[in-house]
Amino acid sequence: MNQEYRVLLYYKYVTIENPEEVTQEHLQYCKDLGLKGRIIIAAEGINGTVSGTIEQTDEYMKYMEEHSLFAGTIFKIDEAPEHAFKKMRVRCRPELVTLRLEDDVDPNIQTGKHLKPKEFFAEMQKEDTVVIDARNDYEYDLGHFRGAVRPDILNFRDLPDWIRENKQTFEGKKILTYCTGGIRCEKFSGWLLKEGFEDVSQLDGGIVTYGKDPEVQGDLWDGQLYVFDERISVPVNRKEHVIVGKDHFSGEQCERYVNCANPECNKKILCSEENEHRYLRSCSHECRIHPRNRYISEHGLSEEEVKERLTTLEKEVTR
Ligand SMILES: [Zn+2]
Repeated sequence: MNQEYRVLLYYKYVTIENPEEVTQEHLQYCKDLGLKGRIIIAAEGINGTVSGTIEQTDEYMKYMEEHSLFAGTIFKIDEAPEHAFKKMRVRCRPELVTLRLEDDVDPNIQTGKHLKPKEFFAEMQKEDTVVIDARNDYEYDLGHFRGAVRPDILNFRDLPDWIRENKQTFEGKKILTYCTGGIRCEKFSGWLLKEGFEDVSQLDGGIVTYGKDPEVQGDLWDGQLYVFDERISVPVNRKEHVIVGKDHFSGEQCERYVNCANPECNKKILCSEENEHRYLRSCSHECRIHPRNRYISEHGLSEEEVKERLTTLEKEVTR
């Protein structure tokens, strides 16, 4: 693989007095440099993932280190054959990660204990430890730590409510949390402490860092890691590869994500190429017959053809 590009993943919780201004300035800088990616800037800090050549990313990290607000940011670096984004976006938002807490948490004041990959690996195997996946359900479904709790939520912001509803599961336990790069856990683990849970730790640097650690080598991670760029997934466990993803239609092992072709649904579904075509890339019958179904328009299927495909499908399913 030709590896002349890099993907950077990073965040820093830091108070920014003029986030709008910093956003504009940062966007201009990144565009001039030729980076692509997505960055969020808020009054509470910065969260970004960008791709660029080795020279561009080196230059960016140097710029950040010399920046009065962003010095000290830790970058997770992945090698890549090409850009992982199409555009460069920098947006100003009220929060870096959307939790919408009535009483916000400042991770610089309150957050769970940071565990290095090796420590996390040891802790998660102890009795009385419960590991909570602090990500969305579709991220968990592609890969997760063996035995980790899967919160039944569609969006990260629903996590606090879900924890409250299931409080007895976690009370008196040693809680470990993890997420992709660590940013969600900074807040979530702080919130858990505030909520009264006493023993809360988080995976420092997230799954990305865990997978790169030369000692643990991603051990006890099953499946792949969902990432928010064009790569969609990256490997974590370098000792063994256990597939946990299941085809939405057949239940067979699958690690391939597509979005439901109904633009109003757009749900992420794991499915094989074969099933993508068979089910018109739609998660349900309702989505298949949606008037603006994107699979149908992309493949230029006529009404007749769609009808025929749906009839065949019905026969197969009821058989
Ligand atoms: Zn759908």
